[in-house]
Amino acid sequence: MIYDTIILGAGASALMCAAHLPKNHKTLLVDTNEKIAKKIKISGGGRCNVTNKYVSCENYLGDKAFVQKVLQRFGNDELLEFIAQNGCDARLEKGRFYFCPKSSQQLIDIFAKLTKRHRFALRETVLEVKKKEEVFFVRTNKRTHKAHSVVVATGGASFKNLGASDIALEIARSFGLDYTPFRPALVGFTLQKEQFWFKELSGVSIDVVVTVEEKKLQGSMLFAHRGISGPVVLNSSLYWKKGVLEVDFLPQSNLIELMKNGKKRFISSVLPLPKRFSKAFLKHLDIEDKECKKVSKEELSMLYENFHSYRFAPAGNFGFSKAEVSAGGVKTQELSENFEVKKVKNLYFIGESVDVTGELGGYNFQWAFGSGKICAQFLINRGSFILD
Ligand SMILES: Cc1cc2nc3c(=O)[nH]c(=O)nc-3n(C[C@H](O)[C@H](O)[C@H](O)COP(=O)(O)OP(=O)(O)OC[C@H]3O[C@@H](n4cnc5c(N)ncnc54)[C@H](O)[C@@H]3O)c2cc1C
Repeated sequence: MIYDTIILGAGASALMCAAHLPKNHKTLLVDTNEKIAKKIKISGGGRCNVTNKYVSCENYLGDKAFVQKVLQRFGNDELLEFIAQNGCDARLEKGRFYFCPKSSQQLIDIFAKLTKRHRFALRETVLEVKKKEEVFFVRTNKRTHKAHSVVVATGGASFKNLGASDIALEIARSFGLDYTPFRPALVGFTLQKEQFWFKELSGVSIDVVVTVEEKKLQGSMLFAHRGISGPVVLNSSLYWKKGVLEVDFLPQSNLIELMKNGKKRFISSVLPLPKRFSKAFLKHLDIEDKECKKVSKEELSMLYENFHSYRFAPAGNFGFSKAEVSAGGVKTQELSENFEVKKVKNLYFIGESVDVTGELGGYNFQWAFGSGKICAQFLINRGSFILD
């Protein structure tokens, strides 16, 4: 039998696409896992951060004009409405993050119900896709499936234990498409020797501003055993190009003012930072923790420079096994606004397999779901066109 569409993957973007395809659109979803939606299941601490109140192309690394058009067609309002219509009212938390109220299983149940009409080939790993005349041949470790259209929704290379692979890029390469290799993103940094003093601070968390590649990001930095993590660090990893980061540990205050106002107090008690951190930093700078009035002019300028703009280059990151996403993917220039490959009719790439990556906070599901919906809409329109 020849399917109308085979969707490679049964993760976020695949399920959204399948959920919008009608029963008479012969659809097969192929996934290496034994269950659908494994990443949705563990996402957002088990409650899936579905989207964000403030979504714009500025929250994404990639082709901003392309992202903007996608968001205009399927933004956060449309996504929230879709899941609400299906019985899940996402809850707004911390003024901007939308989560499933109980658990991410709520979302998985919605997709399981909406895709019941389709066929699934689970525990099947896609090895290769070929096109002969107008038919696609999808070879898996078990058999070869045939279809008129193929949607590549196999995500990025992060979390291999959840089924991730770089098959999307292998397929892209086999069709001669341009892509950016996957790299770990939304991930913590490892440190060079000069910053090993951070390691003594494991467990400490500080609100900072990080400047990376001219992008300013605010949020908490968490000192961890292996390096640094926390939301602002994960977001920095998205934009980092192996260069220097600059950290303002006192973004809300001015160190000179603080010291002026606390002349008789010790430096570490004047700074609005965890004492453990201030003491370790002073030790690293080789400045004694003493009364502020005893600090020399040179020391003051050194303190100001370091607490407000500490510059260092991370050694690397924690790798694909810890990265929430993979940056990179098929270049948007290869795709139409409906995610069809311009030079290979009826072949589509959606979700994380495309070279667009969001920051932390629901932006990646917004992208995965939006691309899945738009692609499905186009498949339906084209399907009826073929049937005519
Ligand atoms: C721990 C964690 C937490 C996250 N939390 C959030 C969050 O709260 N909010 C947010 O916006 N984003 C979050 N993300 C990111 C988000 O999960 C992904 O960006 C999103 O799932 C991408 O959707 P996708 O459909 O492109 O890929 P996936 O959802 O990864 O789906 C790809 C599917 O393809 C299958 N596959 C891969 N290779 C093959 C192959 N060769 N053959 C057959 N099947 C294959 C995989 O098994 C998988 O099921 C999180 C990610 C992780 C790892």
